[in-house]
Amino acid sequence: MPEKRDILYEGKAKIVYLTDDPDKLILHFKDTATAFDGVKRAELKGKGALNNTISSLIFEILHKKGIKTHFIEKLSNNEMLVWRAERFPVEVVVRNIAAGSVVKRLGFKEGEVFRKPLVELFYKNDELHDPLVCEEHVELMNLAPIEFLHQMKETALKVNDVLREFFSQQGIKLVDFKLEFGRLPDGSVGIVDEISPDSMRLWDAKTGEKLDKDRFRFDLGDLLEGYRKILKRIS
Ligand code: UDP
Repeated sequence: MPEKRDILYEGKAKIVYLTDDPDKLILHFKDTATAFDGVKRAELKGKGALNNTISSLIFEILHKKGIKTHFIEKLSNNEMLVWRAERFPVEVVVRNIAAGSVVKRLGFKEGEVFRKPLVELFYKNDELHDPLVCEEHVELMNLAPIEFLHQMKETALKVNDVLREFFSQQGIKLVDFKLEFGRLPDGSVGIVDEISPDSMRLWDAKTGEKLDKDRFRFDLGDLLEGYRKILKRIS
């Protein structure tokens, strides 16, 4: 069992702790829900545990498919042990169905099914509000080595295949999701951060009910009720 040391970083939804092993970190999932760059915020008891549990389950599924992530093991209700990674400030979003920013930005109709998955890149930068970027920006701004970026896009599409199939078996549509990547201690590129209903859109396949963070963003109903429904179906 690794020993928890100082806080390395505290974000909106997680606290990152150093451990006695320089290559390993502990992620603590907080009960805080935030949206719109942190403008909307609430404390929801149990949210951290739900996200930690759902994220851990998803990382385990990806590992079985040979996809590299920073996940090592779930330690407790709110904590997971991960490999320390040098993070790239790029968010890779994959979309199967139009929702959220792609509707506002490009005029797609919400719910429109894409002919093939759409991959988008965003520059992770709070001051600039995470703008959309293209491969050339990533290269010019040295956000990630270009060969890594190609790997990240490829991995994101593989994750989409795996998770779309997985959720579909549980009667859930995977609308879109966001991944972050980093260089792991062994030098390879892996998925970091979390893969949870905070970073995915999941709709009930029969009723169309939104089960993800959009419930909180747009006051569509009890957020945790949606997250509990997801966990119940996937575990
Ligand atoms: N997303 C995220 N973090 C961000 C931005 C987006 O996890 O900082 C997720 C979001 O939950 C959704 C997908 O990425 O599942 C696509 O988000 P979109 O670009 O539509 O932005 P939004 O309108 O949700 O801010």
